[in-house]
Amino acid sequence: MTHWYNGNIVRIEDASPTTKRFWLEVEGTEHFDFKAGQFITMDLPIGERRNQRWRSYSIANAPDGSNVMELCIVHLDNGLASGYLFNEAKVGTTIKFKGPDGAFTLPDSLGNELVLVCTGTGVAPFRSMIWDVFHKKIPNRGIHLIFGTRTSDGILYQQEFEELAQKMRGFRYSVALSREESEAHHHGYVHDIYLKNYEEKGPDVTFYLCGWTKMVDEAVDNLIVKMGYGKERVKYELYG
Ligand SMILES: Cc1cc2nc3c(=O)[nH]c(=O)nc-3n(C[C@H](O)[C@H](O)[C@H](O)COP(=O)(O)OP(=O)(O)OC[C@H]3O[C@@H](n4cnc5c(N)ncnc54)[C@H](O)[C@@H]3O)c2cc1C
Repeated sequence: MTHWYNGNIVRIEDASPTTKRFWLEVEGTEHFDFKAGQFITMDLPIGERRNQRWRSYSIANAPDGSNVMELCIVHLDNGLASGYLFNEAKVGTTIKFKGPDGAFTLPDSLGNELVLVCTGTGVAPFRSMIWDVFHKKIPNRGIHLIFGTRTSDGILYQQEFEELAQKMRGFRYSVALSREESEAHHHGYVHDIYLKNYEEKGPDVTFYLCGWTKMVDEAVDNLIVKMGYGKERVKYELYG
């Protein structure tokens, strides 16, 4: 039977003009266990029927043995759930949720180089995975995070990833801005970056894609149809 938890919002911070970080403390458990990359599903007071009320959100922090998790959520125009979370939920608000769920996780042993491609809040499960690998010192063949957004004010966790790239061996961080030219970042889409860097098909690369349908569909098409990677090398999580 599904177990529902209550989580209390203990902190909220702006991450960009349209995105906030929410910290949820789980009631009644000392240790909320999840695997890096998994998500929870909230039952929010935004509709009568459950399919109107349920929304899933990736856990953005690495499992750290605590009962506090971080979520990174974008406010969509006319979005019911994100509208509720941005305009009505506050520190102290209790959220009903179930989970963790999802198989968008890393294998126990990282034999391949990982290329993690995302746009916007699609970075959330990757942040969890990358910090998990870092904290647990999991042997790996390199991790390349490719993050895309429109303009530089939409870059999420930028400073954190830039600092991590200095201290985590084999971790690379690339940013693509589709609507802003800057010296520091690629001007264009995330697709340009992996198309250029992984065109010469290495035998040991696995791609993980996360975000909204348009970006993920285009990346799947590029990697499998155009570049010839096997389906087993391309994993993805769709946000909608
Ligand atoms: C496994 C999983 C994990 C997820 N993790 C996250 C996460 O970590 N962070 C996060 O922010 N979201 C995440 N989502 C998406 C989230 O569940 C909601 O779909 C999202 O918050 C929108 O809900 P809403 O009620 O605000 O919008 P709705 O009221 O459901 O939709 C409002 C309108 O916006 C349209 N719309 C939907 N997406 C977009 C878009 N990207 N751009 C423009 N229009 C759009 C819809 O078609 C609809 O017309 C995840 C989804 C899944 C399935």
